[in-house]
Amino acid sequence: MDTDILNSIKIEKTTQSKLPKDGINDLKFGSTFTDHMFIVQYKDGKWQEPKIMPYQPLELDPSTRVFHYGQAIFEGMKAYKDTNNKTWLFRPLDNQERLNKSAVRMQMPELPKEIFMNGLTELLKLEKDWIPTADGNSLYIRPFMIASGRGIYAAPSDEYFFMIIASPSGKYYSKDVNVVIAEHYSRAANGGVGAAKAAGNYGAQFYPTQQAIKKGFDQIIWTDSTHTYLEEAGTMNVFFRINDTLVTAPTSERILDGVTRKSIIALAENMGIPVEVRKISVQEIKDAARNGELKEMFGAGTAAVITPIAKFSHRDEEFELPKLENRYSDMFKKKLTDIQYNRDEDPFGWRYLVE
Ligand SMILES: *Cc1c(COP(=O)(O)O)cnc(C)c1O
Repeated sequence: MDTDILNSIKIEKTTQSKLPKDGINDLKFGSTFTDHMFIVQYKDGKWQEPKIMPYQPLELDPSTRVFHYGQAIFEGMKAYKDTNNKTWLFRPLDNQERLNKSAVRMQMPELPKEIFMNGLTELLKLEKDWIPTADGNSLYIRPFMIASGRGIYAAPSDEYFFMIIASPSGKYYSKDVNVVIAEHYSRAANGGVGAAKAAGNYGAQFYPTQQAIKKGFDQIIWTDSTHTYLEEAGTMNVFFRINDTLVTAPTSERILDGVTRKSIIALAENMGIPVEVRKISVQEIKDAARNGELKEMFGAGTAAVITPIAKFSHRDEEFELPKLENRYSDMFKKKLTDIQYNRDEDPFGWRYLVE
């Protein structure tokens, strides 16, 4: 592809900013969108001219492939503003690489790194005033790709849109959550798309999650095909603290390889905390909970950063987690967000300045 297209973005600015007069702090997660969006079409076997344009609806033919066959993938990342008004991203190339892994699995075209990164940084420069500064606030960024070709025959599309939209967002969860361990439904299948950030993975979780919510839980922790081993929470990877050891499941074709997950593993190793990446059975954590060795459980993902778990349930038996003073979850959250918001050293080189 010629490098001009890769590096030049056609920018059409809005004539009337929608920036709310009463500010953008503490908005509900993912509900307000910025003035512009990034869009690039894949057509005739190649990516076309990338554009930034005013945020607006798409017009799509009813036979558009994504509506019928679910060829859709996404990413989730955040932009953070520091006290010097500088904009930072966190490990954005990991999201770019993961998008392409998801694309391959869903028979979609890979997006050149330059288009992803230039689109992202140009959009963020334009939307700088949309990055909230209140504690725990950030600009949530949603890159995604959909099959935009027409025709209701079951075959991969020959046209796609890759887009980036952004949403100023407050804190995601404010309280510790109660979870239920899956014993009937599954999020992912062996040989399936669990490791891809495919839209359908979320759609498939809504029904069982709603059943869990009706019973007073917030989320489900998914298990393997035999419901023996713990996998992830479906929007977050899951960590267990057994005595002082941090344990988490290895990634697999059923589990999403989270950026937050691998950052926590690196932080823990760097701090000398024993870390075990291995299979962990439901029986093991029930036993550990009963004998007092299970100190903490928490979810890890970009949206909420870290979500401590207060209680888990399995086969109608409930297990309360102890209320510790010095929790790993609070410590990792502080370490991670201090790096993300440029409040502390970044020995790992994770922070990425948008300029
Ligand atoms: C996005 C996602 C996560 C978290 O990944 P991060 O890169 O840490 O945001 C975990 N599990 C699933 C299924 C996801 O889609």
